[in-house]
Amino acid sequence: MEDCEIAVSGAGSVGAALALGLARLGLGVTLIESRSRGVSGKDRRRFVLSELSAQWLGQIGVWNEMQGSLKPIHSIRVDEPGTRPVHFEAREIGLPTLGYAVDAAQLARAFERAIRSEPGIRLLEGARIRRMGPGEPRGSMEIESGSGTTAIPAPRLLVVAEGQVSSFLDEQGFNIRTRDSGQSALVIRLQGLTGVTQDRVSERLGPEGLLALLPESASEATLTWTLRRDRAETFLANPPAEQCLTLSRLLDLPAEGLGLIEAPTRFDLIRRHIDPPYREGILVIGQAAHSVAPFAAQGMNLAWRDARILVTRLSEARQAGCDFGSAEWLKGYWQERRSDHRRVGQLTESLPRLFESRSPFVRRARRSGWQVVRTVPLLRRAILRFGLGWNP
Ligand SMILES: Cc1cc2nc3c(=O)[nH]c(=O)nc-3n(C[C@H](O)[C@H](O)[C@H](O)COP(=O)(O)OP(=O)(O)OC[C@H]3O[C@@H](n4cnc5c(N)ncnc54)[C@H](O)[C@@H]3O)c2cc1C
Repeated sequence: MEDCEIAVSGAGSVGAALALGLARLGLGVTLIESRSRGVSGKDRRRFVLSELSAQWLGQIGVWNEMQGSLKPIHSIRVDEPGTRPVHFEAREIGLPTLGYAVDAAQLARAFERAIRSEPGIRLLEGARIRRMGPGEPRGSMEIESGSGTTAIPAPRLLVVAEGQVSSFLDEQGFNIRTRDSGQSALVIRLQGLTGVTQDRVSERLGPEGLLALLPESASEATLTWTLRRDRAETFLANPPAEQCLTLSRLLDLPAEGLGLIEAPTRFDLIRRHIDPPYREGILVIGQAAHSVAPFAAQGMNLAWRDARILVTRLSEARQAGCDFGSAEWLKGYWQERRSDHRRVGQLTESLPRLFESRSPFVRRARRSGWQVVRTVPLLRRAILRFGLGWNP
């Protein structure tokens, strides 16, 4: 096996995007993925990709692979039960769209096609890093695969994007904090809807949880419902007809004709945080480093911003002859990214707390807040930019 300068471990949406970005800049990259038989296609989630993410996916050659499966989103309608909705429109901030809805399985397949056809990526499938050991000058990296274990000189930089369960990181002595949030996300595919606006996401925030309805067609949509685990369990224990009645009440939809396309899928939300997410020669990104609650569609979009900026900084560092594997250089990169992570953290941590509260005082404050947002376009634009991480 050849020597490698940059290696990425984990070919999920974050690791694959990073490897493609590096390869497109002419930086050869070794991509190590523990799966041996490609993507499963069983992921039932429907993602929202921001306009900024869409632009980057275009640059790294993934966008073309997805044409036909994307639904542009031009507006988001947000409300709380009993209040008038607030509409956020792409044109308010001069963007062509607010983002795109896409099936997670289609996105995974598009990444797979793109990495397989990229000559700058050396893909090692069914492989995982067993050990990074000391040595001169850079140490060695042991990679285990079906054909045995091979040792190669350690890359100058290893980026770990192994998702939430990373056996390699557990052994590396990183400061990993995990906490069960006590919440779950239910992904529910619905049919028989009437009057679905196909380019609009509807979000409902309330004490029953946070609901985001993403259109698929004029009569079908995918609901991502983030709620307390005990409530999720109660809901799932009910028969489908009763589940539909609950959803029609929560979403103000006519119950007649409303049906489930398939049984809901449940994701238990575990908070994971690594601080700092780097050390000499190793950087951790994506869900391996920071998990983000799904309701505001931020996690992957945030990690892609991390990856996009990393590609730019690595290219600059290489031209300037900097040691981009050094802890000092990685610290500089992380300092640049930290404020974006704080912004997303504030958004995703505070909203559920704010809308869970049934206190009359908090409810009155929320109502006044909605009224201000509805009537002050400047504030709406600021919220939209904040939510999208869009700073032109
Ligand atoms: C219900 C739900 C809805 C969501 N909706 C959105 C949304 O609309 N928009 C958004 O931006 N985000 C959304 N997210 C968040 C998004 O799913 C995650 O941020 C994203 O999938 C993380 O990708 P990743 O590449 O970091 O991890 P993963 O997708 O988990 O990929 C990790 C990869 O590493 C591989 N791997 C694991 N261990 C090893 C190893 N030891 N060696 C080598 N390879 C290994 C795995 O096989 C896998 O391919 C949602 C999340 C949930 C739960």
